[in-house]
Amino acid sequence: MDLAGLTRDLEALRDEVVSAVAGTQEVSALAALEVDVLGKKGRLGVVLRGIGGLPTDDRPRVGAVANAVRVAVEEVFQARGVELRAKELEARFRAETVDVTTPGRPIRRGSLHPIVETAGRIAEIFSQFGFVVHEGPEVEDDLTNFQMLNIPPDHPARDLWDTLYVDIDGKLLRTHTSPGQIRVMHASTPPIRALLPGRCFRYEAIDASHASEFFQVEGLMIDEGTTLGDLRGLLDQFAQAMFGQGKRTRFRPGYYPFTEPSVAFDVECVVCGGSGCPACSRSGWMTILGAGMVHPVVLQYGGLDPERYQGFAFGMGVERIANLRHSVGDLRLYMENDLRFLEQFR
Ligand SMILES: [Zn+2]
Repeated sequence: MDLAGLTRDLEALRDEVVSAVAGTQEVSALAALEVDVLGKKGRLGVVLRGIGGLPTDDRPRVGAVANAVRVAVEEVFQARGVELRAKELEARFRAETVDVTTPGRPIRRGSLHPIVETAGRIAEIFSQFGFVVHEGPEVEDDLTNFQMLNIPPDHPARDLWDTLYVDIDGKLLRTHTSPGQIRVMHASTPPIRALLPGRCFRYEAIDASHASEFFQVEGLMIDEGTTLGDLRGLLDQFAQAMFGQGKRTRFRPGYYPFTEPSVAFDVECVVCGGSGCPACSRSGWMTILGAGMVHPVVLQYGGLDPERYQGFAFGMGVERIANLRHSVGDLRLYMENDLRFLEQFR
């Protein structure tokens, strides 16, 4: 190979490479081409090896041409690399763009169960009168659930509660929140203002107005000189706060073994306002809870001297209060957890 031939080969290689580089579309293809041309065993090296066969005088001139070709080729690789990387980055940005105007996936918002919400509202109202929430066990003994509440083993009033017994030491599922009265009396000294919310259980055939599992809120106030008038005043305030100002209320005689006297507390019908409708059996009144003065026997079982202390207790079904607030007519709805029902209480 002579000087002119080698120079021609070098310039031909340069032109071919410049054209090939311009035609590359990907960074990876450009890199492969670069190795092919400029790598250790690349095509430029192969041509340059021919320099060794030239006369010594010609070598510097070919060396200068070779150097210029190398610089020119390196520059086009460099420039095309910048272009292709920018292009690929732009394409990636386009492909990975997040459209911030696309609506997000909706977050389903839950709400309190109407029974929990109603129990909370009851507690909130009585807390304004200084009542403090206490919680008792759902599995009780016969002594606390019945006997200490003035209901001895053969008392006919036991028929009022169809009891579910647990197969351990004669324990039972509490049939009402009233045993909490005994527990609070044992645990504290008067003045007592206790609120006892909780789940209760009875052996019932389930229908629209009977459930085997339900919630009660019990209240207990004990002090020196507590009267039925105090009870009436407190329950009046409760009725106004729960069902609206100006609602008429009344006491009717009732019966519970653990209170004497016992009363039923009625509120003017929330549906008809007292004129009479099917919801109130045309009476104009709705019974919302039972109450009375704590029986002296119960005070004694609670460790208190009935000569010194008097108290009143009241108990209400949370489902009944929720029914009246939300015009729900079937207790079963509260336990079925059907979202179509529950979503109405947001
Ligand atoms: Zn009515």
